[in-house]
Amino acid sequence: MDLREAPHDAAFRAEARAWLSQHVPTKLASGDTAEGFAQHLVWERKLFEAGWAVVSWPKAYGGREASIRQWLIFEEEYYRANGPQRVTQNGIFLLAPTLFEFGTPSQKDCILPAMASAQTLWAQAWSEPGAGSDLAAVRSKAVRVEGGWRLYGQKTWCTRASFCDACFGLFRSDPDSQRHQGLTYIMAPLTGEGVEVRGFGRLDGDEGFAEVFFDGLFVTDDAVIGEVGEGWRVAMATTSSERGLTLRSPGRFVAAAERLNALRISRDTDPELDQRCLDSALNAEAYRLFTDAAVTAMSQGEELGSRSSLMKVFWSELDIELHETALAILGEDSALESEWLKGYQFSLAGPIYAGTNEIQRKIIAERVLGLPRR
Ligand SMILES: Cc1cc2nc3c(=O)[nH]c(=O)nc-3n(C[C@H](O)[C@H](O)[C@H](O)COP(=O)(O)OP(=O)(O)OC[C@H]3O[C@@H](n4cnc5c(N)ncnc54)[C@H](O)[C@@H]3O)c2cc1C
Repeated sequence: MDLREAPHDAAFRAEARAWLSQHVPTKLASGDTAEGFAQHLVWERKLFEAGWAVVSWPKAYGGREASIRQWLIFEEEYYRANGPQRVTQNGIFLLAPTLFEFGTPSQKDCILPAMASAQTLWAQAWSEPGAGSDLAAVRSKAVRVEGGWRLYGQKTWCTRASFCDACFGLFRSDPDSQRHQGLTYIMAPLTGEGVEVRGFGRLDGDEGFAEVFFDGLFVTDDAVIGEVGEGWRVAMATTSSERGLTLRSPGRFVAAAERLNALRISRDTDPELDQRCLDSALNAEAYRLFTDAAVTAMSQGEELGSRSSLMKVFWSELDIELHETALAILGEDSALESEWLKGYQFSLAGPIYAGTNEIQRKIIAERVLGLPRR
């Protein structure tokens, strides 16, 4: 692995840094509130117009055909410039990789440009009340009818679904099937006859979370991604990307560690807090280097595979550590410093979403360490 930045990557970094330093908005409300979501859309559309929304995608869909390494560079610069959370992330980081791998040409042509330009907003509708960690327990069903499918069932914990136009998830299309068999990966609108979105608030007060109820919503055959009955394979092909790379790239944590250090310098800290800041900075750097090594391996034909579970546990625990240290430095002022406090509240969800850390540790034990299942 060559740690030096190639000249074309350095030029890419300089271009991104120059643009972001001129354009990143200073203060947006949380993207998980209606007001903040609308503000974020203005920003996401500006990113798209300047060609920075989906840098690694083909030009035909609004990208720049940047390499994965350049995408990581962009992310570093984005968070370094204090860029806002991406409210398009469920589309561009979760659904898009699935479409690139399994979508038909017409699905890609119809869906990807509107997704990249933040014209169609996508929610992930995977979890159900009885199917979270155990996703194969999905009970929502797709019933075959002329020209398509009717959807029934309940999805839950759908991030920002209250503000989105459409969703994607697994539906049981074979009524006699069990577990991983007989599932189909389907995209569905969130408005219309036969679908109801019920928003509910998070503990931090943001209201974007939602449950989605399907009661006979009709979708045409071209809403299916991949083969009918092959939904599990389609879903699993892109989960490692969610856990390990696209959802939480290292730039976010390297930037947070830098901000933590700036906070430390601005306050009266003791040696123990200084040490905690140093540990977080080293851990963020370790995550960056591990990701670089993974990307190098991928460029040589390897899969991200179970590395993504190691990454997921590492970034989610690092995020809590960074925020806990910031709150310890701030002491009573934490209540006033809403950015660190809000970040802390959200960091506590990190070990739960994108596959809980208990499940990731099981995967690491079995597939990385080779330990027996029992
Ligand atoms: C902030 C946030 C955003 C989310 N966004 C979305 C979204 O946009 N779309 C979506 O579909 N879902 C979303 N989720 C849901 C998330 O994917 C689920 O919460 C997660 O998969 C866990 O499922 P569960 O909540 O049903 O918990 P359960 O699966 O019931 O687990 C409860 C506890 O038991 C543990 N556990 C379960 N099975 C095992 C086992 N076999 N071995 C050891 N321990 C086990 C778990 O680790 C956990 O600690 C989000 C969740 C959060 C917190």
